[in-house]
Amino acid sequence: MFEKVLIANRGEIALRIHRACKELGIQTVAVHSTADADAMHVRLADEAVCIGPPAARDSYLNKAAIISAAVITGADAIHPGYGFLSENADFARMVEEHGIVFIGPSPDHISMMGDKIEAKRAMIELKVPCVPGSDGPVADVETALKLGSEIGYPVLIKAAGGGGGKGMRVANNADELAEAYRSARSEAGANFGNDVVYIEKYLGHPRHIEFQILADAHGNVVHLGERDCSLQRKHQKVLEESPSPALNLDQRAQMGEIVTSALKKLGYRNAGTLEFLYQDGNFYFIEMNTRLQVEHPVTEMICGLDLVREQIRIAAGAPLAFTQEDVRLQGHAIECRINAEDPETFSPAPGRVAEYHPPGGLGVRVDSALYSGYKVPSNYDSMVAKLIVHGTSRNECLMRLRRALDEYVIGGIKTTLPLHRKLVQTPEFIDGRYDIHWLERWMGLKK
Ligand code: ADP
Repeated sequence: MFEKVLIANRGEIALRIHRACKELGIQTVAVHSTADADAMHVRLADEAVCIGPPAARDSYLNKAAIISAAVITGADAIHPGYGFLSENADFARMVEEHGIVFIGPSPDHISMMGDKIEAKRAMIELKVPCVPGSDGPVADVETALKLGSEIGYPVLIKAAGGGGGKGMRVANNADELAEAYRSARSEAGANFGNDVVYIEKYLGHPRHIEFQILADAHGNVVHLGERDCSLQRKHQKVLEESPSPALNLDQRAQMGEIVTSALKKLGYRNAGTLEFLYQDGNFYFIEMNTRLQVEHPVTEMICGLDLVREQIRIAAGAPLAFTQEDVRLQGHAIECRINAEDPETFSPAPGRVAEYHPPGGLGVRVDSALYSGYKVPSNYDSMVAKLIVHGTSRNECLMRLRRALDEYVIGGIKTTLPLHRKLVQTPEFIDGRYDIHWLERWMGLKK
C-alpha cells in the first residue's frame, strides 16, 4: 500500500480523498493555489505545497508544479479527483514517468474515452448500444445535411473533445443545420482547442442514467448499479439519485452485464462510469468518464463501499475484495449539489460564509469543505457542498432529504439551497416522473 498520496485537487473532493487516505493509514499532501491558502483541504492534510497563483491554469492545471510537489514531498501516488487533470492522459503519463502511481486508469484508456468519437466506436465494437449517428467526424456542412436527412431530425451536433455540455447544438430541420454546425464547431474550437464534431440523433425525452463500475488490474470487473442524473440545468447535473425510479431489476441486471463484460474485454482498470440516455425502454451510450464522479456518494450510500478507498487499493495492485454476487444495493439515496449561486439567476455568488450549520442524523452525509468564516473564492467552480441522504425506501429518503435541507444553514452567501427545497416538494419529482428537460421547463427556462 502507498505511504503518501498527493491530492491534485481542491474543495470537497480533496477532503473526500484525504478522508479515504487517512482511513487506510496513508499520509496526505495537499496542493493549493494562493487563493486557497486557508482552505480546509490544506488545513487537514499532513503536508501542503503552494503550486501557484489563483488562476487554475497556473495552479491546479499546472502539471509540472504538481509533479514537482509530489517529488519534493516523496509522495508515491497522485489522486486527481474530478475535473482539472483527472482526464488528462498527458498528465497521467507524466506522473508514471516520474515513478509515481496515477490513481486512475491507463493513459491510453483516458485518451480513448476522452475522444467521444473514438469512445463510441469502441463501444459499438464492444456491443454496447449507442445513439444512432455519424460514423466518425463530420467534416463539412454538406455531409452534415446528408446525415441529417438519413438519421432524421432533430439531430444534435456534438464536439469530439466535448465536456460540460459545451460545443453542442440541436438542429430541428435542414434550415437550422448549417448554423448549428458552424456554432458547435466554433464553440468546440474555443473551449477544447479541437473543433472536430459529430452528429447524433437528438432524443426528445430521455433520462440520463449512468452505470458505476470498478475494475482491478487482475481482470475483475463489477458494477454498482446506476445513478439517475436526469435533473439538469444547461446539461449540468443538479440532483442525482440511485436507484433510478425508471428501471426495474431485470433492466439493471441486463445493463450491468453489458457494461461489465465490455470493460472486461477492454482491459479497463480503476473506477469508471458509462453514461447512457434512456428512452422508451432503450439505452444509448453517450460517453464514458474515466474518473471518480461528483455524484459517486449516491452509489456509496446504497452499496456501502468507499469508492476512493477502492480506487487506491486497485492502483496499489490489490484485487477487488468482493465479486458481483457480493454487491448488495440497499435502499435509496439522493444527492443535492449546492452551489454558491443566486438561486434565481444562477450567477456565481462567492463571498464569506458568515454562519455554517450542516444537517446531521441517521442517513445524512454532507461532503463539503465549507466552514464558518471561510471565503468562497471566485476563481473556481461554484459547487460548495453536496448533501447526500439515504433511506430504506425512496419515500423515506425524500422525507429525510426535506428535513435535512431545512436544517442546512449557509449564511452570508447566496446558495442554491432554496431551489432544492422547492424541488423536493414538486409532484413530478416526488413521483419520479422527469426527463433531462423537465427541470429547465419547471424552472421556466424552456418551453
Ligand atoms: P458533456 O461531456 O458535454 O457533458 P454528454 O455527451 O455527456 O456531454 O451529454 C451531456 C448531456 O447532453 C446529456 O446528459 C444529455 O442531457 C444531453 N445529450 C447528449 N446527447 C444527447 C442526444 N443524442 N439527445 C438528447 N440529449 C443529449
